[in-house]
Amino acid sequence: MRLNCSRLKTFLISAVISTIVAFSNTPAYPQTPVSAGPADPQISAALQQISAERIRANIEKLVSFGTRVTLSAQDPASIAAGHGIGTAREWIKSEFERYSHECGGCLEVKTDSFTQAPADRIPSPTVITNIYAVLKGSNPESTSRIVLVTGHYDSRNGDTLDAKGDAPGANDDGSGTAVSLECARVLSKLKFPATIIFLTVAGEEQGLNGSKHFAEMARQQGWKIEAVLNNDIVGGDRNPQQDTSVVRVFSEGVPVGATDADLRRIRSLGGENDSTSRQLARYVAEAGRTYHAGVEPLLIFRLDRYLRGGDHYSFNQQGYAAVRFTEYREDYNHQHQDVRTDDGIEYGDLPKFVNFDYVANVARVNAATLASLASAPAPPANVHILTKELENDSTLTWSASPDGRASSYEVLWRATSSPDWENVKVVGNATRAKLPLSKDNVIFAVRALDKDGHRSLPVVPLPER
Ligand SMILES: [Zn+2]
Repeated sequence: MRLNCSRLKTFLISAVISTIVAFSNTPAYPQTPVSAGPADPQISAALQQISAERIRANIEKLVSFGTRVTLSAQDPASIAAGHGIGTAREWIKSEFERYSHECGGCLEVKTDSFTQAPADRIPSPTVITNIYAVLKGSNPESTSRIVLVTGHYDSRNGDTLDAKGDAPGANDDGSGTAVSLECARVLSKLKFPATIIFLTVAGEEQGLNGSKHFAEMARQQGWKIEAVLNNDIVGGDRNPQQDTSVVRVFSEGVPVGATDADLRRIRSLGGENDSTSRQLARYVAEAGRTYHAGVEPLLIFRLDRYLRGGDHYSFNQQGYAAVRFTEYREDYNHQHQDVRTDDGIEYGDLPKFVNFDYVANVARVNAATLASLASAPAPPANVHILTKELENDSTLTWSASPDGRASSYEVLWRATSSPDWENVKVVGNATRAKLPLSKDNVIFAVRALDKDGHRSLPVVPLPER
């Protein structure tokens, strides 16, 4: 286009004015709010299959073994008599095998068994067995990617060392065990590009022994676990102050495995709210919004409750992203207590205090998260933000998703003081994006999408000079 002098002047003035207008408003860049992802009809249908009645039957079955204390009986006679942790182990294994039979052998049912040397709450060498079912990913490039759900099937009463007395453990953690089982039953009817592992561990109450062994094995064998969902006390105890509309999701901030270099970077640039576990927690919240599971994830930005711990920490210690689901309000009369009535108050972790509809809804949030992640492409790799020069734009670079399933990428960002992603820019099938936003003012991340809109976990960039 040719312009004469006065038209050029007018053009330049109007260009300057429009630029001033564009950059004088806040925000200075068109903001597209992040929205919940599209629901996958196959996943929605699977969530409908999750049954509160099945969950009730499974929790009652676990309770029927009398005790599942890690130190309780596991000899053949006790197993035959249906008493002790050995029976619980055999029953869980047979349930996984039954689900596998129903899906034409789609699950590989395995045990991870070891002898725990005497420790704090283990008076003598004790065999601890984790049981898990593997739904292998159907895509050869994605099958090494793993998402995992876990609960602990051991229980306890008032005395951690009481191997004989009743320890029903309906809520702690029959509920979490039932979530792993029900997710396995329902999701094994589908196929996913990536692998899902349904795990139940023992030794939690003695010192996280089972999960520690499993997570160390995974690390030693180089398992690429992208996400661990630990369900512990998700029974929705029927106390008057319970809020059954939410489930708490705990996640660590600064990772336990952070190196000195990581800590230096976090001290100077922030990132204490951007561990991989926290990205996973946000992903859980998003899955909850997409699939309307009947219970809303309430993100708690701390590793765990005061004075308490759980199996997700064993995975965090090995550098894996892991979060913990727990009901909103715990009733301490109904956990870690001998079954009894004192002054008219009932103590003990009995099935009658468990809200099975609530457990089913928590299982739906878990299944939605597992299925979404196992359907999504691998997260983009080598995500960096260029910091060579002082500039007010931000340039991000990354490598394509390693499993080759991404068809596009999105850049997410939020204010540094905001808890969750606020804005998104679709950048297509690119490995670089430049945004007219200062990296000093926001936190960025990049995620990958497949052709159907399944989203990967977002990856926060590392600075690159
Ligand atoms: Zn527990």
